[in-house]
Amino acid sequence: MLEKCSTCSQSFPEETLKRMVQIVGRKAYLNYICPSCQSIVLHNPSYYYLIEPKTENPNVEKR
Ligand SMILES: [Zn+2]
Repeated sequence: MLEKCSTCSQSFPEETLKRMVQIVGRKAYLNYICPSCQSIVLHNPSYYYLIEPKTENPNVEKR
């Protein structure tokens, strides 16, 4: 399954693309970033790696 890179608009296999969150104002957008664009995006402070929550994490405090 091919997905488009949100930065360069080229199609890549989904597993090649990194899911990153772009913060614009108070909104967060999910972007797919190809390996060649990742180096650019990493220098952009409005992009964050999407951290997938682990269901089993004994270190997480329950509130
Ligand atoms: Zn790209």
